[in-house]
Amino acid sequence: MKLVIASNNAHKVEEIKAILAPYFDEILSLKEANLAIDVVEDGETFEENARKKAEEVLAVADADAALSDDSGLMVDALGGAPGVHSARYAGEGHDDAANNAKLLAAMQDVPENARACQFVSAIALARRGRETLIRRGEVEGMLLRAPRGQAGFGYDPLFYYVPAGKTFAEMDASEKNSISHRKRGLEAIREALAAEQA
Ligand code: IMP
Repeated sequence: MKLVIASNNAHKVEEIKAILAPYFDEILSLKEANLAIDVVEDGETFEENARKKAEEVLAVADADAALSDDSGLMVDALGGAPGVHSARYAGEGHDDAANNAKLLAAMQDVPENARACQFVSAIALARRGRETLIRRGEVEGMLLRAPRGQAGFGYDPLFYYVPAGKTFAEMDASEKNSISHRKRGLEAIREALAAEQA
């Protein structure tokens, strides 16, 4: 069984390979599979976007399966925003710093006890002739009032993970990846594959 991962992010690809290696003979990134495909992420949910990416990649790939993830940050006090718009919260062409600044401004008047948020990742595994498997991973945090830490990307410096007493940007990659939303979503996919084989 050959799996193509709908990503060229080397880090994501390594993480996915480590977790799903027992279930596939070969796991390739888009680049390794010689695919240049840009899927428009216009769904209203993480699950819709993840399904679309995985199924569109499988449609053009010489592979048995395709896996994608769609992720973002949901803030309770903002009704779940930035949500599926996390990457472009401050507008097209804006960077992580602009997204974080916009989020801090939107949360300025929100008190400490109402700053709960979640990182969410929907993972979709599309397979030929079978229903696409979709699982969600989440991790709970508190939104800080100012960034802390230099590691990671995106909203990591604002995401305070209470059990560790630090933000995701204050963790090294292995610590973050052992508790992350993506890791939890991937583990749920791994469990579904294991259950199918049992
Ligand atoms: P993607 O769909 O996984 O590329 O992520 C969409 C956006 O969500 C990113 O551009 C980030 O703004 C945010 N995001 C997703 N996962 C993380 C994370 O692990 N840390 C920080 N931000 C994240």
